[in-house]
Amino acid sequence: MKKLVAVILLNAMLIAIIVSLIIKKNEEKPLEDSPEEEEKVLELEKSGVEDMTISDSPKTSAPATPVDCSSANYTTSWKSLMLINPNFKVSTAWIASRKTELVNLTDLYGINELNHWNGIPLIDPEAAPNLNAMIKAYEAEHPGHTLGTVSCFRSVGTSCGRMCAATGESDHHAGYTCDLADPAYGYALGTDFNANHPEWAWLHENSYKFGFIDRFIPEWAGGPMSEPANVDANGTTGLYETWHFRYVGTGPAYEIATGKHNNGSYDSLEHYLKATGRIKNLLSPNQGCE
Ligand SMILES: [Zn+2]
Repeated sequence: MKKLVAVILLNAMLIAIIVSLIIKKNEEKPLEDSPEEEEKVLELEKSGVEDMTISDSPKTSAPATPVDCSSANYTTSWKSLMLINPNFKVSTAWIASRKTELVNLTDLYGINELNHWNGIPLIDPEAAPNLNAMIKAYEAEHPGHTLGTVSCFRSVGTSCGRMCAATGESDHHAGYTCDLADPAYGYALGTDFNANHPEWAWLHENSYKFGFIDRFIPEWAGGPMSEPANVDANGTTGLYETWHFRYVGTGPAYEIATGKHNNGSYDSLEHYLKATGRIKNLLSPNQGCE
């Protein structure tokens, strides 16, 4: 009987040593997921020995960015860096909820929607003062001119081929985006591109100073304009919209506009998020959840 107790005690001590070694190994690699080691710990936990050693141990193997696997698009918690495109979609319920968080640009700053069919221009409260400052700077450099919106937040998508996105796939759902135009040059987007709109060239050069980026430049459009919108694994956007400006915050906007992660050339938001390690796979919104 004494021998049996001794064997049990010896086994328990060996298990305790193994568990403490596993925990020590995990602590040495705090930023990496190690599913195999976690599995071992779980097995030991099931066998009832966890109380001896790991009851107060902090969980140190959590990923740097928390991933919400209940959402189809985990980037929506990234606020001004959230990604919405044909691969990273949002639900109509999410869009409706997002609308309640936005502010009215006309009430706040007297910024007008140029096409009344688009309704009231709504945007995120952090982006709003920056958009107003950008318009004020444009006005200061162009006496007698101003900028209006040609839709900011949209509840539904627009199905008009390459230049538009279906409901759930549009950057306009994020609440950080406005199509902009100088009313002196009209607001018929998509018909004349840059030809008669010098304000878009100014915005391309200056918007990053206010935390905005030119979201869909030709270098990232990827192919002829007749093709359907398509986002590839490298960050091609599938869209070319010279009037479309998206708030991402001044730090990221500077890095995107100056091409910090794109050899000095203007970056796409998709490529930037991948190059900075935020998104591993631009084709899969469920990374880390499989
Ligand atoms: Zn747009």
